[in-house]
Amino acid sequence: MADIFSKIKRSEVMGLIRGHGNKETEVALAKLFRRHKITGWRRHQKIFGKPDFIFPKLRLAVFVDGCFWHGCPRHGTKPKSNRAFWNNKFSRNIARDRLVNRTLRRAGWTVLRIWEHELPKVKKISTPHLGPLPVRSGEGKLIRRIKKAASIAESRFL
Ligand SMILES: [Zn+2]
Repeated sequence: MADIFSKIKRSEVMGLIRGHGNKETEVALAKLFRRHKITGWRRHQKIFGKPDFIFPKLRLAVFVDGCFWHGCPRHGTKPKSNRAFWNNKFSRNIARDRLVNRTLRRAGWTVLRIWEHELPKVKKISTPHLGPLPVRSGEGKLIRRIKKAASIAESRFL
C-alpha cells in the first residue's frame, strides 16, 4: 500500500500524536500524585531525556511511556504498511530510552518508567444506593511501584 503521507507530513502527524499522548498521560499521573498526596515533584524540567516528572530532592526521574511509541511488549502493535520505516522508528525510540536511562543513572538519578497501560482506568460501577460510582482499577499497584522507586531513591541519601 502506498504511503498516504509525504515524509514531512508524516513527521508532523507523528509529532501531533506523540505530543497529544504525552500530555494526556502526564495529566493523569499528576492527578494520581495529587490524590495520593505525593508531593515534591516538578514537571517540564530541563533534564536530559526530558522526564515527564522529576522529584529533585530524591533525584528520581519518572517517564510515562506510550505503549505504541516505546514498544510495550503487550500493546506495541506495529503498523502493517511501511514496516521498515516503523521498525526503524521503534528501535530508535527504544535505543533512545536506554541511552536516557543509562545517562541519568550515571549522573546519580533513579529512573522509573511507567507504561501508559499502567495508568489507572476509570470505570463506572453501579451501586444500589449511590448510583454509578467511578472506580480506578490498577491504581494501588501503580502507587506501590512509585513509592518503592521513591524509597529506593531516598535510601541512597541516608
Ligand atoms: Zn502497554
